[in-house]
Amino acid sequence: MEVMYLVIPCYNEEEMLPITAKALYGKMSALIAEKKIAPESRVMFVDDGSADKTWQLIEKLHRENRLFTGLKLSRNKGHQNALLAGLMTAKKYADIIVSMDADLQDDINAIDGFLEKRAEGCEIVYGVRSSRETDTGFKRMTAQGYYKILAAMGVEITYNHADYRMMSRRAVEALEEFKEVNLFLRGMVPMVGFKSDIVTYERAARQAGESKYPLKKMLSFAVEGITSLSIKPIRFITALGFMIFFVSIIMLIYFLTVHFMGKTVAGWTTTVVSVWALGGLQLLAIGVIGEYIGKIYLETKARPKYIIETDLEEDN
Ligand code: UDP
Ligand code: MG
Repeated sequence: MEVMYLVIPCYNEEEMLPITAKALYGKMSALIAEKKIAPESRVMFVDDGSADKTWQLIEKLHRENRLFTGLKLSRNKGHQNALLAGLMTAKKYADIIVSMDADLQDDINAIDGFLEKRAEGCEIVYGVRSSRETDTGFKRMTAQGYYKILAAMGVEITYNHADYRMMSRRAVEALEEFKEVNLFLRGMVPMVGFKSDIVTYERAARQAGESKYPLKKMLSFAVEGITSLSIKPIRFITALGFMIFFVSIIMLIYFLTVHFMGKTVAGWTTTVVSVWALGGLQLLAIGVIGEYIGKIYLETKARPKYIIETDLEEDN
């Protein structure tokens, strides 16, 4: 029997935690009773620098029941970093690690499916939602469009998979070798390789509290996904540059011919339009390149992705 850790990033989740803890207590106890996982298995809540009572609640859960343990980051670092902190800490104690959100949107019964795939020898099992009925029409459309864009950019990503997945210790150790600080885990994990599979589940609506991913965060996460995993946008700009250069040569020949035929060009429209079009394109190009230079800047600094303040498991 393997020791399983559930890693759950929590940011201001005081409303959700008691509900989540109760549901997970039921699930983990059942799995332990059925001898599907070892009794030393734990639920590890990672407090991502919450401003509310999240950490106090985690400490209380830990005091009352050894099933629960906690990790406190020194400050808010965002979902992806909190998740990574949890994975890297959990691998010290666990054989297999399941990551999920605190809001119970991911069906906890899919864990049985994960364990079956594990028994078949999988090192990574991706939770894939079967439908997006609980999402708003807007979120569904943007998400689907986004997966298509990512695919076009050559990013290998599992369709409709968020960060609900099971990884073996071996897979997490391999992931640790990826030194990048700009994290987009769902795009990085497939690069690890190993025998993998998917388990589908129905995604529910958030039960309490509100989404910690407002539109602004979602957009920057989306850009992060593309720029962290693909350099196609830069190639696209280069191609565009070549094309425009080619067009300008044709235009030059055309204007010279017209000029020598004695017809003076009266159209200032062309001039103005091309100035604006080219100016816009150049700004866009510089912006995209700047985005990547910003990334390089952050990567060369190699700042720690997270700093752990307390690990309740270590204190025991
Ligand atoms: N989260 C986090 N740090 C943050 C923002 C979110 O650890 O800065 C956690 C949050 O507590 C939750 C998970 O990330 O467990 C996913 O967030 P949420 O459910 O709000 O996102 P949504 O499902 O709306 O995309
Ligand atoms: Mg959610």
